[in-house]
Formats: sequence, structure tokens, C-alpha cells
Amino acid sequence: MTVEDRFLNLLPGGLRACVERGVPLRDLTTLQVGGPAALVCPAHNPEQARRFHEAALRSGLPWFVLGGGSNVLADDRGFSGVVMRVAGQACEMRGDVVTAAAGLGFDELIARTLRAGLTGLEFASGIPGTLGGALAGNAGCYGHEIREFVRQATVLTGDGDLVQVGCDDFGFRYRGTALRDAGSVVLEVVLQLSHGDVESACEERQAHLADRLAKHPVHEPSAGSWFRNLEPAEPGGRRQAAGALLEQVGAKAMREGDAAVFPRHANIIVNLGRAGSGDVRRLAARMRDAVRDRFGVTLEEEVRYLDPAADVVA
Ligand SMILES: Cc1cc2nc3c(=O)[nH]c(=O)nc-3n(C[C@H](O)[C@H](O)[C@H](O)COP(=O)(O)OP(=O)(O)OC[C@H]3O[C@@H](n4cnc5c(N)ncnc54)[C@H](O)[C@@H]3O)c2cc1C
Repeated sequence: MTVEDRFLNLLPGGLRACVERGVPLRDLTTLQVGGPAALVCPAHNPEQARRFHEAALRSGLPWFVLGGGSNVLADDRGFSGVVMRVAGQACEMRGDVVTAAAGLGFDELIARTLRAGLTGLEFASGIPGTLGGALAGNAGCYGHEIREFVRQATVLTGDGDLVQVGCDDFGFRYRGTALRDAGSVVLEVVLQLSHGDVESACEERQAHLADRLAKHPVHEPSAGSWFRNLEPAEPGGRRQAAGALLEQVGAKAMREGDAAVFPRHANIIVNLGRAGSGDVRRLAARMRDAVRDRFGVTLEEEVRYLDPAADVVA
């Protein structure tokens, strides 16, 4: 019996039927790079996530959690384990409190909350991916981060327990959380929004969407900013944009195979059509080396690399 069969045998029949084999990761990631994942499991609720996780642990298969795949570089060789897709879409609003499943599209949630007269999340308009991915990575832009709105969440721990956590338990930091580092999966989220000025919030949303359209590859395959901005030189100072340094070293003209730097944003790699993971890695290395050689600083990836057999991402 193969290890994949052992995994499938550990699942109840209904869940087993949902598992897909050999799904190309290029179809599950916005950069559209990556070979087949051995097993892809959509979890529509916390209990399904728990069952998939338990079966992966017991069968000894590596494990990776995927939301919208908008911040991930998968490998051409694929992934030899279980990819769990957080797929729950439920959303309920009571007063100014929103409870939503982590698989809901983040921008879809923003649009829905504004339609319901709730403000707060408009700053993040246009960020691709899921609510869970946004929380796990503390997504942010235009001076705000999602952490400002989190009250509590249902989380699957690395040990396989479903637990409720509060905002302080996330260990939020710039573009990351201690919770994600520990291998926990965000499954449901409770957010505190406001009954604010919806008209101006909608205007802000439209302005951000237009700004993204002008500056970001909204239609081309990409994974957003490749490198993290640099820590401020002094406490309380501003982060230095990695894109500004990359611009000065001529990154916008760099290309490796079909992986190229986006002409309007020096910190974004786009797939011109048939880029492989090797092309993308080589291009990212050139970008980092050029900045290191000129400015003496080493850029760190914001994008997460999914290695072929690892159950922890870099
Ligand atoms: C055009 C473009 C613009 C972008 N602009 C921004 C921006 O302005 N600000 C910003 O912060 N980001 C931006 N991003 C990056 C990306 O969209 C965000 O990081 C997004 O929140 C990732 O969500 P996801 O569901 O796609 O996560 P994925 O890409 O699927 O996963 C990213 C990481 O989070 C983990 N993860 C995913 N879901 C969960 C979960 N439920 N529980 C635990 N871990 C999980 C994965 O294992 C992986 O390590 C942009 C990306 C693109 C392509």
C-alpha cells in the first residue's frame, strides 16, 4: 500500500471522495508556477481540517496549508505530500462583529462588509487571497494591518487540536505571525469592525483599487511583493521600501527565462507565460545580490517557498 493510500484509508468515505490527486500547483497559485501536488484536500469546516491533518500526521506525509496561493512559489517538481486548501466560505455579521470562515476571499469579505454598512477593512481593498492567508501573514498596506481588527479565531494547532485564540495569541508582526510559524491553521475568524462613514470608506476602496491597477500586476500572474521592506533604522522610524533599492539597481530590466520583474514595480516578479520555479529563484537571487552588492543589505523573501517534500515552508 502506498503512503497516499494509507492517508486516504484514514479518512471517512465522504472526505476521501473530496481528495484530488496530482493537481498542478500552478493551477492553485497566482504566480502560476509549480508541478503536481500528490494530494489536495479542501477543508470546508474546522472538523474536516482536523481530520485531514490527523490523517497526514498518522500516515507520515508532509503537509502544507494553502489559501488563495497568492504569496507562494511552488516548485516545478511539485509537492509529495498533502496540500490542505482552507475552503470554508461562511460569513455572518451581527452588529459590528463579523464571523467568517478563513477560506473566504479577503477582498470579497471587504466588499460584503461595506455593503452591510461596516467599515474598517477598506484599506486592504484588492489584496488577493483568503481571509485566513491574510491573518496568517498579517497582510497590510497603506499604513494598516489586518491585526487591528482581529478579536478571536478558531485555529488548528500543529498537534491537531482545534482551539479558540485571542488577538494576542497570534504573535502578529510585520507580514507574519508566530501562529503561522508554529504550524497552526486559521480556520474561522471574528473581526471587530465599525458602523463608520460608509460613503468615504467606499471612496477609499475605489481609490486603492485604482492605485493597484496602476502600479501592480493585477492581470499578470504574480505573487505580490517578493521581498519584505527593511526594518526602520531607528525605533519608530519608517520601513525602507525594498522596491526603491531594487529600482536603483536596475531590477526592472531583469529577466530569467519567462520570469521577469514587473516594469511598473521593481519588487514584483511576473510570469510571462512559461516561467519555471528555477527561473523565478534565479531572478530573485539576482535581485537580492544586486541590492547586497550596492547597498550592503540582504533582502528577505516575503513570498513563501513550497519545497517539494518539506512540511515546513521557508
Ligand atoms: C497582485 C498582488 C498584490 C498583493 N498585495 C499585497 C498587499 O498589499 N499587502 C499584503 O500584505 N500582501 C499582498 N499580496 C500578497 C498576498 O496576497 C497576501 O499575503 C495574502 O494575504 C495571502 O493570502 P493567501 O490566502 O493567498 O495565502 P497563500 O498564498 O495561500 O499562503 C501564504 C502563506 O500563508 C499560509 N496560510 C494560508 N492560509 C492559511 C491559513 N488559513 N492558516 C494558516 N496559514 C495559512 C500558507 O501556508 C503560506 O505559508 C499581494 C499579492 C498579489 C499577487
